[in-house]
Amino acid sequence: MPHSHLQLDHIRVGYRVPGGWHVVVDDLSMELREGRIGCLLGPSGCGKSTVLRAISGFEPLLAGSIALHGEVVATPRRSLAPEKRRVGVMFQDYALFPHLCVADNVGFGLRRESAAERARRVGELLSLVGLSALARKYPHELSGGQQQRVALARALAPRPELLLLDEPFSSLDADLRERLAGEIRDILKEAGATALLVTHDQAEAFAMADEIGVMEHGRIVQWDSPYQLYHSPASPFVAAFIGAGVLLPGRSIGDGGRVSLELGEAEATQTPPQGGRDGALTVLVRPGDICADGRSPIRARLVHKTFRGPDYVYTLRLPSGSEVLAYMPQEDGHQVGDDIGIRLCGNRLVSFPAAGAQA
Ligand code: ADP
Ligand code: MG
Repeated sequence: MPHSHLQLDHIRVGYRVPGGWHVVVDDLSMELREGRIGCLLGPSGCGKSTVLRAISGFEPLLAGSIALHGEVVATPRRSLAPEKRRVGVMFQDYALFPHLCVADNVGFGLRRESAAERARRVGELLSLVGLSALARKYPHELSGGQQQRVALARALAPRPELLLLDEPFSSLDADLRERLAGEIRDILKEAGATALLVTHDQAEAFAMADEIGVMEHGRIVQWDSPYQLYHSPASPFVAAFIGAGVLLPGRSIGDGGRVSLELGEAEATQTPPQGGRDGALTVLVRPGDICADGRSPIRARLVHKTFRGPDYVYTLRLPSGSEVLAYMPQEDGHQVGDDIGIRLCGNRLVSFPAAGAQA
């Protein structure tokens, strides 16, 4: 039975301001088992870095407790020093030491080991991240992605019980970012590491994590697998944050298995939408839910068009003024300003009782 490697129990963390505390993280609980990669995903400023600083021991707790590997390391009264927690951290600005070669950067946290053991461990890590051939290079001679992997090897070298990664890819280009996230996931899995990533980037979270907690204003609003988050978001906030969906007003029809909205009618997802009074719903419409159909009576104005390679992303304005995104094949040839016939493609739609409506 794998241990619970990291356990946050109702933690509250804040910063001192004149006259009191600015509470940033409140009543946040989560658990990560050994060998798992977790992620806290949320918009900038929601408190992600603050959680990591509390776990690594750089911010005190105002309430709750933190346990690492079954041992309580922090409560409001007691806090184990950061260097005793065996937590490795890789920050957004993972600055390597410019005057040290790759091997010496990786060996930096191993100064107390014998020279032979240090060399052995550095060799092992460089091979793990696929950079053995670059051991004697200096940071300025490496690409951004290579520097990132050196930083990862450096963080893993002292065998931390837990690795924390704070927006580790945000300084990289979008395409490199997703590829590297996948590579780093493979490296962490091979090393058997337990890791907690924080990011505001959904693609990065999905590429790396086994389980994700979506954060809103210092709390976790849903903890789930990427699949469940995508297909069964627990609230309109999660729904809008995951994927490029848009929330539109609608209502439930029949005995609740279908929804009706400006774009037409569709099947609802497994939970029959309750709807508020009058069956009012908020319906999530994702780009893949909309197809072009020249014969459809529902028309939308093409207001923006982005080429992605395999297809285009259309921004479409509906008669009500709401805008939705849709993926369209290249050969469609529509121009900005055109009115296009569209319909729902037959995917089941996620919906919630409309805000303010009574169930
Ligand atoms: P995130 O990493 O999700 O972007 P942070 O944890 O960095 O969010 O910050 C959450 C909130 O805490 C923000 O409102 C930020 O302004 C505030 N904050 C962060 N660090 C400090 C600090 N050292 N002193 C005071 N307020 C801070
Ligand atoms: Mg941050």
